[in-house]
Amino acid sequence: MPELPEVETVCSALSKIVYNSKIEDVDVLRSDLRWKIKKSLKNDLENDYFKKPFRRGKYILIPTIKDNIFLIHLGMSGQIKIRNNFESILKHDHLRVTIKSENDKTYFITYNDPRRFGYIDLFHKKEINEHFLLKKLGVEPFEKNFNIGYLQKIFDKKIKCIKDTLMDQSVIAGIGNIYASEILFKAKVNPYRSVKTLNNEEIKSIIGATIEILKKSINVGGTTLQNHLQPNGKLGYFFQNLEVYGKKNKTCNKCKCLISVSIISNRSTFYCNNCQI
Ligand SMILES: [Zn+2]
Repeated sequence: MPELPEVETVCSALSKIVYNSKIEDVDVLRSDLRWKIKKSLKNDLENDYFKKPFRRGKYILIPTIKDNIFLIHLGMSGQIKIRNNFESILKHDHLRVTIKSENDKTYFITYNDPRRFGYIDLFHKKEINEHFLLKKLGVEPFEKNFNIGYLQKIFDKKIKCIKDTLMDQSVIAGIGNIYASEILFKAKVNPYRSVKTLNNEEIKSIIGATIEILKKSINVGGTTLQNHLQPNGKLGYFFQNLEVYGKKNKTCNKCKCLISVSIISNRSTFYCNNCQI
């Protein structure tokens, strides 16, 4: 499932071509995604112009000249494909937007999503803080208000474990299952720890590890993406050098103990029981 670094990578790839582009054609091929795509999307978007895309949590937001915001959520398996040549519709292609870029080139942006857990929306920019998907989002990990004071206040009121709390989008926006495991390994904190038991030093380590791991992954995504036109047209999925996630039956790079795997809130959790206290 795409998390903050993957969404950021897609967002910067889109930035390179959609900025100041004219939306020439919108084809909704299948509207029943996680929520139904609005019937008005085609009419409201065609002939408008895209401005610079930005990311909020795991959402890609593209403002338009007509003061609307085009929202893309990749869900569990959503992918954005950018092509400069027309390609026939493939299985699981649900939306195609044809744009004419600033330098007069035609691009086809296709949303493909086998599991249909993603979503596409268009709303007026003044509704951004009230949008049902955006209004409850917590802090952005790269913003100043992601700090010890903020987390302490939340941790005082929560009884959940740190792994679940890191993945709670209303606390921090953008972290999912893969990066939660990686962050806690880096911070040397056991995923089962109740947030109430974490001291200042541990909270500080978690903040440091979060920023470092997410930034590093965005860089990996950025370098993988030498060109916004990937050979297969697909964006946002890149090979990560992970320390614990998916390392069942492998040993810890630090202490050589076997990596533990267990299920927390229905999600596989990978950690080193020796390094993470
Ligand atoms: Zn270890």
